[in-house]
Amino acid sequence: MGKGLSPRVKALVRASVADLEPYDPGFSPVAINLSANENTHGMPEEVRRDMSVALSHVVENRYPAPLATDLREALAEWHQVTPQQVLVSNGGDEALFNLFLAFGGAGHKMVNCPPTFSVYRLYAEMVETPVVDVPRDPETLLPDIDAIVEAAKDAHLVVLTSPNNPTGDCIARADMARICEACPGIVLADEAYSEFAPAGTSSEPLLDEYDNLVVLHTFSKAFCLAGGRIGYLLGAPDVLAALSAVRQPYSVNSFSQAAALVAVHEMGAFEPVIEDIVHERGWLASELSKLPQVKVWPSSANFLCVRMPEAGRKRAELRDEYSILVRDFSTTPGLEDCLRITVGTHEENEAVVSAIAELLAKED
Ligand code: PMP
Repeated sequence: MGKGLSPRVKALVRASVADLEPYDPGFSPVAINLSANENTHGMPEEVRRDMSVALSHVVENRYPAPLATDLREALAEWHQVTPQQVLVSNGGDEALFNLFLAFGGAGHKMVNCPPTFSVYRLYAEMVETPVVDVPRDPETLLPDIDAIVEAAKDAHLVVLTSPNNPTGDCIARADMARICEACPGIVLADEAYSEFAPAGTSSEPLLDEYDNLVVLHTFSKAFCLAGGRIGYLLGAPDVLAALSAVRQPYSVNSFSQAAALVAVHEMGAFEPVIEDIVHERGWLASELSKLPQVKVWPSSANFLCVRMPEAGRKRAELRDEYSILVRDFSTTPGLEDCLRITVGTHEENEAVVSAIAELLAKED
């Protein structure tokens, strides 16, 4: 794809695709995978049991409900909005892509706050959207809210990630309100990791006040369904209608709709899992911080952003010598020598801390 295209194909594809770098999750098979911010604790047993029953009742010879009616209604009830304020997608990624397809494009400025989730820029470029970067502070990695407000004033789309991937920080609700106020276009609050953040940090309550705000959620993280590919947006019905217009019909399959519906009905079962991940995040951060060569940024998500000498090499050594996979950000501008480590189970966290300590000790 992209840079690897043959000259013949390169001459045929649309210009914005010719030089695209495809998204690379950097996956390789390992014993301990802490690289993709999934829920490492796995589905609660009683939820898995009920999901299996629900899956066995799926009518597979018919197309799925196009707008995931039952799931949409359950999500609306949970978030206390109307079903018209909910749009279910094939993973959060599909919602993001459709957002760029509908609101991006040539001449439609998008504001991005790197370092952040690389998919925003990828989708923006795919549909010829001009991207204006408002970089984060190189030390704190926090976004520059005043500069975002300024840049938002003539933007069609502003994308804010809270907690941000890979830096882990949240955007204060008051700051999100300022940005919604300033922006004539759509403001996306990507809250894929919000279940791991302290109470009161979500921008959702602002939906009543700002009809240009859309909030993205996913079942891939807290709710253990990365394999099911279910995401959804909350927002004003007319904004979501534009996304319905560009989406592929039947993009969300019946099995995933059924599984996610069980997760919503049994939401309470995930609470202890989420609490344990938050507790483990604290443990992992404090143990890594004891290593003098390692800098750990505070995180409100299920991962930590850390800096250490020769991070790119350490990532390869962790994989090859310890069978532990973490994500390499050492070549990302602003994240030199940084790795992102997903919070694992206690045993996995112990393993990654002791492996990093051993690798660092070898260098002394
Ligand atoms: N937003 C952010 C910030 C993410 O990190 C991810 C997944 N890595 C997504 C959205 C999309 O998640 P999914 O497609 O699995 O719902």
